[in-house]
Amino acid sequence: METLIAVCGINCGACEAYLATQNDDDAARAEIAGKWSKMYDADIKAADINCDGCTSESDRRFMYCSHCQIRACGVERKLVNCAYCDDYACEELEKFFKMAPEAKTTLDGIRES
Ligand code: SF4
Ligand code: SF4
Repeated sequence: METLIAVCGINCGACEAYLATQNDDDAARAEIAGKWSKMYDADIKAADINCDGCTSESDRRFMYCSHCQIRACGVERKLVNCAYCDDYACEELEKFFKMAPEAKTTLDGIRES
């Protein structure tokens, strides 16, 4: 479902934080917080794991995604996601694709459809 595709192309519908939030699963929140704290060398609490997805109208969004420059750019340009951008794929997005090649596959697929 395209509404669960983040501006950058990540599938929020498959994101652990999204799933734990939708299932209101506190055990999963605690587990993800521990895992992500190590992964990102940050202090992420179980209470921080609350997210309805990048493009949701809800304000519940994981803090890192809230501060994402790619998301901010897409929102400013009033785009559903970067696939609809005339500047696709910009330098910032290409850099991100190196870490998340699946996001490029998703956005390329949207552009070709
Ligand atoms: S916006 Fe939320 S659901 Fe999407 S990738 Fe970020 S944390 Fe996961
Ligand atoms: S310039 Fe376009 S492709 Fe790049 S981040 Fe902004 S919306 Fe996405």
